Amino acid sequence: MNEATQKVALEEGSHTQEKRAYVARAYAAAGPTSGLAAATIRRREPGPEDVQIEILYCGVCHSDLHQVRNEWSGVMPTVYPCVPGHEIVGRVTKVGSAVSKFKLGDLAAVGCMVDSDRVCPECQAGLEQFCANMTLTYNSPDKHLGGVTYGGYSDSIVVDQRFVLRVPANLNPAGAAPLLCAGITTYSPMRHWGVTKGKKVGVVGLGGLGHMGVKFAHALGAHVVVFSTSPNKKEDALRLGADEVVISRNADEMQKHAGSFDFILDTVSANHDIGAYINLLRRDGNITLVGAPEKPFAVSAFGLIMGRRSLSGSPIGGIPETQEMLDFCGQHNFTADVEVIPIQKVNEAYERLLKSDVKYRFSIDMASLK
Ligand code: NAP
Ligand code: ZN
Repeated sequence: MNEATQKVALEEGSHTQEKRAYVARAYAAAGPTSGLAAATIRRREPGPEDVQIEILYCGVCHSDLHQVRNEWSGVMPTVYPCVPGHEIVGRVTKVGSAVSKFKLGDLAAVGCMVDSDRVCPECQAGLEQFCANMTLTYNSPDKHLGGVTYGGYSDSIVVDQRFVLRVPANLNPAGAAPLLCAGITTYSPMRHWGVTKGKKVGVVGLGGLGHMGVKFAHALGAHVVVFSTSPNKKEDALRLGADEVVISRNADEMQKHAGSFDFILDTVSANHDIGAYINLLRRDGNITLVGAPEKPFAVSAFGLIMGRRSLSGSPIGGIPETQEMLDFCGQHNFTADVEVIPIQKVNEAYERLLKSDVKYRFSIDMASLK
């Protein structure tokens, strides 16, 4: 980590305020088609409530790819340079004077959020992901240094202790990193929709999110069916905890499950026919979208009306539930299945994500950035 400290002048209204910052190494995209390359960024020096973390591993989420390539321009346009990464695990290297949750050397984690207003009803309920003033780990306005926040494809990060999570000691750090987004994004809707023993649960798409969805649904005791477009993932799906695997391009195989699911989690990153999955729900069944393709879906009203079925979405999870999820993984002793890569391979990893060629999450070894 480059500890060189510099003074940064910030314009705040008519006042110029001096903020202490240091230079960190990172990988950044200069534009939607540039790819990612080595860069330096500023991080704030830790304030009283802040924790500074030396990043050991950062997972590669398909959202990083959507954001870097500005595929969500209508909803959250990308500000360049963009440093993605919101599946962060590392060691605490500095703590502010008021930090009680962490000490030097602790294993700590940061997910998709680094701040929120803490006073709204959502924050009071521990559902910071719904706070109107929530700050995302990257591509959100940075209220400390100006510009936008920078994510975990970097050697260090500084985050308020309230948004820093504890990692159970028995979890492998490279595999634990993806829990911070792929983990909580699949765990939260399953808890919300009551996935338990005796429920029939579908997971659509066996990628980073999907493979965690299978692990959680299995650990929660459900009968798990994986829907995949990739026949070569069948054995892995069974090993990960699926009871059955359906190749979704096969209409006959799909039809066998018509009207039978209590809950389906759709993790697919590209446009596809969700009507085919709505038809697989039983009465009062729910399909939750966590996958966030670029373009809108077409949905038949009758598919929902008949059977009083519901279609919903779900974003990540709140901080208390994220800690609960990490502790659940600690108790059940599992993490994500990762392919560890050096940061120099990240552009290649994005190309492989687009080909559904990852088993099942890339985790960047940040030592490669030194
Ligand atoms: P990923 O690792 O690339 O996995 C996506 C999987 O979807 C692929 O492995 C593939 O599974 C399937 N798939 C891909 N293209 C398809 C197509 N054209 N038709 C049908 N299936 C296809 O991605 P990820 O990191 O898990 O993320 C998945 C999506 O969730 C992304 O859109 C991401 O932005 C979104 N996301 C949302 C949240 C949230 O808070 N809601 C959080 C994180 C990520 P098979 O090979 O098995 O078919
Ligand atoms: Zn993510």
